[in-house]
Amino acid sequence: MPPEAFSSQIHRELLDLAADGLLRSPGTINSPPAKTAVVDGREVRVFCSNNYLDLAGDPRLLAAVRDGLDRWGWGSGASRLVCGTTSAHELLSRQLAEFKGCEAVVLFSTGYMANLGVLTALASAGDVLLIDKLCHASIIDAAGASRATARFFPHNDIPRLARLLERHAQARRLCIVTEGLFSMDGDFGFLPEIVSLKKKFGALLIVDDAHGSGLLGKHGRGTPELLEVESEVDITIGTLSKAFGSLGGFVCCSRDLAEYLTNRSRSYIYTTAAPAAMCLAASAALRIVRDEPQRRVNLAAVSARLRDGLRRIGFDLGSAQAHIVPVILGRAELAVQASQRLFERGFMVPAIRQPTVASGKARLRISLMSSHSDQDIDELIEALAQIGRDLALF
Ligand code: PMP
Repeated sequence: MPPEAFSSQIHRELLDLAADGLLRSPGTINSPPAKTAVVDGREVRVFCSNNYLDLAGDPRLLAAVRDGLDRWGWGSGASRLVCGTTSAHELLSRQLAEFKGCEAVVLFSTGYMANLGVLTALASAGDVLLIDKLCHASIIDAAGASRATARFFPHNDIPRLARLLERHAQARRLCIVTEGLFSMDGDFGFLPEIVSLKKKFGALLIVDDAHGSGLLGKHGRGTPELLEVESEVDITIGTLSKAFGSLGGFVCCSRDLAEYLTNRSRSYIYTTAAPAAMCLAASAALRIVRDEPQRRVNLAAVSARLRDGLRRIGFDLGSAQAHIVPVILGRAELAVQASQRLFERGFMVPAIRQPTVASGKARLRISLMSSHSDQDIDELIEALAQIGRDLALF
């Protein structure tokens, strides 16, 4: 293809995306992470960050990074297996394992890489992955990259999952993959029901708890703690980029499996290790998660206040149950308009459209932080009520 033809093809595709209301261009932030931000020169309240416990800018994390820089420098210089493993990486793994109550933890450079590394290392030709349809893109991509047969069951549809398990009972390895707290819908995976099925069929259960780890359950260990199934989940995947205000992914599993993953996961082996300073920041965050449960309590309280308020007005929140609150509007243009109007009123809540969610299910995805106050919530509800009336949503 001549270069001009290629350029005009790409340009046409961009125009098509724009015509469908699907072209994205993020606002530019000029302030540290907090519940308020300066975006494109304007101060707004942030209702879209996964910095749920407001730790990304916490002075204790920043001090840990500075200390890490003094001790270890910045770049790690190589992958973990070459010369990128420091005692800071090893300490963080041990601390996470102790916190999660599992034998071992494997750190990855991001949560995306953790999902990619786990599924491609564990599943190959002859294996079957049964995946909830609403699982995150990193799981879908990982399934595609593995050579396993991937089958998707409708969200939390337990009878369908049971039928798929029956059909694939003879697979060499049978894995169920779901999320703890779903990232775009804010509801929980039906873990107790899935645990019963996994036992019946001898399947492996993998739970991505990126949005629950550090947040849910009495000790903040995550959705499996909340739903009382911790000992039944074979592999839990978490991220350090959300509750822990840092960067990196982690996998909780048995000691043997950890050794297997560090030898077989390509996204672990063939990428540069996270800086040691990052590990120190995550260790500091973990200490705060452990010592300051009030943050989780606040987050749960403001989340409930928002859900109740928006449902009372008549917004469709699907089956949202926690600190991720989708306001489902349907058409992409409607979500974009609502998001723009919110921004004009000083609230940052981006529109989420296909392919992140199914076509016709565009939404505002509101995510809460422990530092949001009742007043922040009430003002957001009031703004949304007004915008809903202006856009004739109810
Ligand atoms: N899993 C889920 C459910 C997620 O929502 C995300 C990120 N949004 C990831 C994995 C990837 O985590 P990370 O951002 O650390 O790559």
